[in-house]
Amino acid sequence: MNLQLKVPLQKVTDSLLEEKGLDLFVKREDLIHDRISGNKWRKLHYNLEEAAAKKYTTLLTFGGAHSNHIAATAFAGKLFGFQTIGLIRGDATQPLNPTLKYAVECGMQLRYLSREDYRDKTSKEFAEKYLLDFNDCYLIPEGGTNLLAVKGCEEILSDVEIDFDFVCCAVGTGGTISGLINSLKPHQRALGFPSLKGADFLNEEIIKYVSNSQWTLNLDYHFGGYAKVNSALIDFINYFKKTHHIPLDPVYTGKMLFGLWELIEKDYFRRGSTIIAIHTGGLQGILGMNQRIKNKGLQIY
Ligand SMILES: *Cc1c(COP(=O)(O)O)cnc(C)c1O
Repeated sequence: MNLQLKVPLQKVTDSLLEEKGLDLFVKREDLIHDRISGNKWRKLHYNLEEAAAKKYTTLLTFGGAHSNHIAATAFAGKLFGFQTIGLIRGDATQPLNPTLKYAVECGMQLRYLSREDYRDKTSKEFAEKYLLDFNDCYLIPEGGTNLLAVKGCEEILSDVEIDFDFVCCAVGTGGTISGLINSLKPHQRALGFPSLKGADFLNEEIIKYVSNSQWTLNLDYHFGGYAKVNSALIDFINYFKKTHHIPLDPVYTGKMLFGLWELIEKDYFRRGSTIIAIHTGGLQGILGMNQRIKNKGLQIY
């Protein structure tokens, strides 16, 4: 089960970095695959092995209608011969958005859950109402985060040969950063940028998975909430691609790099530091986002 896991560590050259005496590299996990991008592959990898070892033939998972995890699971199912079922938050819409259209093309069956049911998806009542029908499915939680997912993310930095001081990462459910944290050396620190508002609870989530306290979440760069954007963010994403030839997604990596850039400007990092930013992928979401922001005159190029 291998995709392109040897991905480049791309150095960013910029007058700001020079002025502040910092080295910044972007680990291009987005290049693993255009649909199972980055961290979603890392998170699925050991889960797929476990599902295969236990002779499951169907994967069941959850996600919002634009979820990178849904797209990744659908593609992984197709690639490795699993049936896939996606329980999607909210009402069915026609035509399908680009993410769900892709999932269906990969063979995923979609079922829609009301927002109330979706919110309760880890409850006993929910399991009795919905999951009994799916007893023979390998269950992958929302966003793909579980112990095996964290184990997969502990390998993200395994081929990085340079020494670094900080690793920065976008945070959704906290699985990816948990893996990164567990792989740190004692002098290194992880800095997470949650893309949802009110993400304080993530501190408790991450503690469940990690073995040290060398990490901080910066809660300032959610831009109003999950999948919310503004023109400053879109401008930054377009600037970054044009200047550094690195495409960023608007839900995760764009917000993370925007935040990182601002912290650099504000002298958060001491001179001489080396920073690695993890490009966790998510580029499949740009198409759907562009459809939603067109009416505000915004576009990601
Ligand atoms: C899902 C996702 C994340 C968040 O990962 P978590 O493990 O849920 O914190 C970050 N970046 C991208 C591109 C993602 O798709």
